[in-house]
Amino acid sequence: MNIVLLGPPGAGKGTQGERIASRLGIPKLATGDVLRAAVTAKTELGLRAKAAMERGDLVPDSVILGIMKEALAEPAKAKGVVLDGVVRTVPQAEGLARVLGELGRQVDAVLLFEVGEDELVRRLSARTTCEGCQAPYTGREPGTACDKCGGKLVRRKDDEPEAIRSRMKAYREQTEPVVAWYEHRARTSDDAKARDHNGPRVVRLNALGDIDEITKIVMKGLGK
Ligand SMILES: [Zn+2]
Repeated sequence: MNIVLLGPPGAGKGTQGERIASRLGIPKLATGDVLRAAVTAKTELGLRAKAAMERGDLVPDSVILGIMKEALAEPAKAKGVVLDGVVRTVPQAEGLARVLGELGRQVDAVLLFEVGEDELVRRLSARTTCEGCQAPYTGREPGTACDKCGGKLVRRKDDEPEAIRSRMKAYREQTEPVVAWYEHRARTSDDAKARDHNGPRVVRLNALGDIDEITKIVMKGLGK
């Protein structure tokens, strides 16, 4: 079963993705990890990615997709994968569908982690981090002292309301069309057999709900 996780940063995709992958007994793949592994292994595509990064360029989608295909073709991934952060744009969704198709596979399910912007701002801006030992805190004011090392607690720039709102805007512009793209695929196949092969099951989740509850809803949504 090949599963795509979609949702804004801070919605808990990573944590939930690990749990789902471990329940299903399949690996979780994130673009960054797959890219680093290819660079370390010095594969041809890994070397091209490394050269691009050293020039300060973005690694082209075609190179990332090639690396992803090699990773997906490994025997350990034959049963399926949980893909976290791999699909952010419609061209990436199309690319992934093509690559999986070449391997005789498809995206079986899309898990959409939905979260209201105001709620996300409230949740993330309640986080502070120790300047000294990087320990994370929730609900502690910036400027107070760390319990572990006495260092000063600060709010990370990424957790400032303005930064969160700007990430949410980028997410909505890029990723919401991806949701529509997957839902369209799921809808346009008439008979159930074709639907299984062409369109993934799209499961919508309240990302800020109870973490165990979300896992339960996901497993039920996947028919497990
Ligand atoms: Zn500390």
